[in-house]
Amino acid sequence: MKQVMLANGEAVPALGQGTWMMGEDRARRKGEIEALRHGFELGMTLVDTAEMYGDGASEELVGEAMEGRRDGIFLVSKAYPQNASRQRLPLACERSLARLGTDRIDLYLLHWRGGVPLAETVEAMETLRSQGKIRHWGVSNLDLADMQELMEAGGESCATDQILYNLTRRGPEFDLLPWLQERRMPAMAYSPVEQGRLLGHAALAALSAERGATPAQIALAFVLRREGMIAIPKAGTLAHVVENSGALGLDLSPEDLARIDRSFPSPTRRAPLDML
Ligand code: NAP
Repeated sequence: MKQVMLANGEAVPALGQGTWMMGEDRARRKGEIEALRHGFELGMTLVDTAEMYGDGASEELVGEAMEGRRDGIFLVSKAYPQNASRQRLPLACERSLARLGTDRIDLYLLHWRGGVPLAETVEAMETLRSQGKIRHWGVSNLDLADMQELMEAGGESCATDQILYNLTRRGPEFDLLPWLQERRMPAMAYSPVEQGRLLGHAALAALSAERGATPAQIALAFVLRREGMIAIPKAGTLAHVVENSGALGLDLSPEDLARIDRSFPSPTRRAPLDML
C-alpha cells in the first residue's frame, strides 16, 4: 500500500475509505460492513466518518466494522462547526467515541468553518489531544486564506485539510495544494470519483478502455499521483472496494496525464474552493 507521511513521521495509507451515506439503510448494512472489512484487508485501513453522517449512523457502522481490529485502523471523524468550541468539542468528541466504540480518534477534523474562532477550535483540539481522546487534529473545506489564518491562530500542528478534489474539481491545484505541499501537510481528497458522476465521462471511458483499467481506477490514480495526497472513495459494495484498490497499481504516464489535461484542464487562475 502506498503511504503518506503525517508531519510527525507517522505513515498512513494513501487510499482509504469514505462512509458518507453508509449505515442509513438496514437492508444494506451487512453488505456495507463486509465491504469496509474487505477494504481493511486490502490495506485500505484509513476510514473516514463524521458525526453528521446519518446523524451518527455512519460512526456506529464504522465502530462495528472495526470490531476486533481497532489497532490496525487509522480512524478519522469530524465535528460540526457549531460543536468546535471550547465547551462543545469535548462533548461532541465523547459522543463520537461512544458511537465508534473506541477510546480514541486518530484524526479529528473540523468539518467546515463556522462561527467559532479558529484559535478557540485549535485550543479545544489541542486539549483533546493532550487528554489522548484524539491523536491528531485537522480541518476540512478550508481554502488557502482560511489555512493561512489557521496558522496565525496557532494551528501549525494541523495534520491535514480534507477537500473536494477530483478530475472535475482541479481548482485546488492552483494554490491550495502547492501551499500544503510546501508545508508537508497531507491533503485528503474527498468525493474522488465525484460521487460517481464523472465515471461516465467519454474521455475517461476512452482512456480506461485503452489502459485496461476502469474509469474509477483512472480517476483514483489521477488523485493519488500527487505527493502527500490521501483519497477516501466511498464504496458500499465489495466489487467497488476491490475495483478501487486496483487504482494503487496504476501509474499514469506523462502521455495519459497530457490526455487528461485536454479533457479536464488544470486551473489557470484561482477559484474559491468548492464543497459538497
Ligand atoms: P465518492 O467517493 O466520490 O463516490 C461515492 C459513490 O461512487 C458511491 O455512490 C459509490 O457507489 C460510487 N462508487 C465508488 N466506487 C465506485 C466504482 N469503483 N465504480 C462505480 N461506482 C463507484 O463520493 P463521496 O462519498 O462524497 O466522498 C467520499 C468520502 O469523502 C465520503 O464518503 C466521506 O467520507 C468524505 N466526504 C467528506 C466531505 C467533507 O465535507 N469533508 C464531503 C463529502 C465526502 P457504492 O456505494 O454503490 O459502491
